[in-house]
Amino acid sequence: MDGKDGNGGYFRYRSSQNKEWFLRVGEPDVRLLYGCYTKAMFVTMSLLIKQAWLQDGEERLWLVFSDSYIYNSPFNNWYFSCSGIPGCVPDNNPTENCNLDLKGHASMEGVVSMRRGFQETVQLELPKMIHNHSSLRICPRREFPVLNINNALSNECFMQYYALFDWTVDCCTSDHSLLVNSEHRLSQPITPERIQTMRNSLNGVFEDDFTKRSDMVQSCKDIHIVRYTQIPETNGNHHHLGMMCVCNCVQFFEQQYCYQSLIVQHRSELVLRGTKIAGGSTKKKKTKKELERMNMMVALDSRRKYKKTTKEIERHTKTNNDLQKMIQEKEQELQDI
Ligand SMILES: [Zn+2]
Repeated sequence: MDGKDGNGGYFRYRSSQNKEWFLRVGEPDVRLLYGCYTKAMFVTMSLLIKQAWLQDGEERLWLVFSDSYIYNSPFNNWYFSCSGIPGCVPDNNPTENCNLDLKGHASMEGVVSMRRGFQETVQLELPKMIHNHSSLRICPRREFPVLNINNALSNECFMQYYALFDWTVDCCTSDHSLLVNSEHRLSQPITPERIQTMRNSLNGVFEDDFTKRSDMVQSCKDIHIVRYTQIPETNGNHHHLGMMCVCNCVQFFEQQYCYQSLIVQHRSELVLRGTKIAGGSTKKKKTKKELERMNMMVALDSRRKYKKTTKEIERHTKTNNDLQKMIQEKEQELQDI
């Protein structure tokens, strides 16, 4: 849209008075469309954007853009979650990659021999392509960073989020999922009104006018919906068994983790290991005296260790029980509402 990433063709459809319009309105609007959580939301958002662009006098641009990417199926499936599969986001590059793969290049022979007759192509080349892309390439291994607790512990921003996180305020249950506050909404209670606004947005219902269109995406970004699923068999880390937390947010679809899914996935381990590592060790070189003192502290500490571990386990069990109880209570509360 900005004319830099291969979409410069759109420049000729803009009205000449609005030179910086692409950066101020056009590009953010296209990002809003990509950031829609559902098809219904995408449709409503496109109508709001239409109003905005028409008011700005960009009717010609809207007609060209909407003909290609809003009303033209299947080219209108490009909001981030349209595949329904985390890790599978809409992207043009795989097709381009496939092209290269088929034709080959200087250092790699292509799957298909080019410039052959129709009969040979149908009988020889196409079966080769199908064989190559199906039988030879099944079962890709997938890593899910959400399963790796080190991703949480080594991420300073996540640890800051965790330090401020309060299970009784920043999380509640609804429809067999956990609703979790985003980084920017910590300590703001997840009220039934907020949940309703988010659900409305997901269903493509938006009551404000088009000037506030970004609020529709924001209301969904503010509350992450985390749910449990079975760990997929294609996960590269085979020693993982059990359940995996999956979120509905953009980051989860793009990177297979987000702070909210990490915090639910590792909630019991974080209680034990979280605060310890959050403090972190300083990288400053220590003097001999300091090292001696540290060694003494370690020796003293190991004597207390047994006592401490028992205490930690007690606290851990208590937190887990509390959490379970809290989830049940919250579920009941929400049902009563
Ligand atoms: Zn998320």
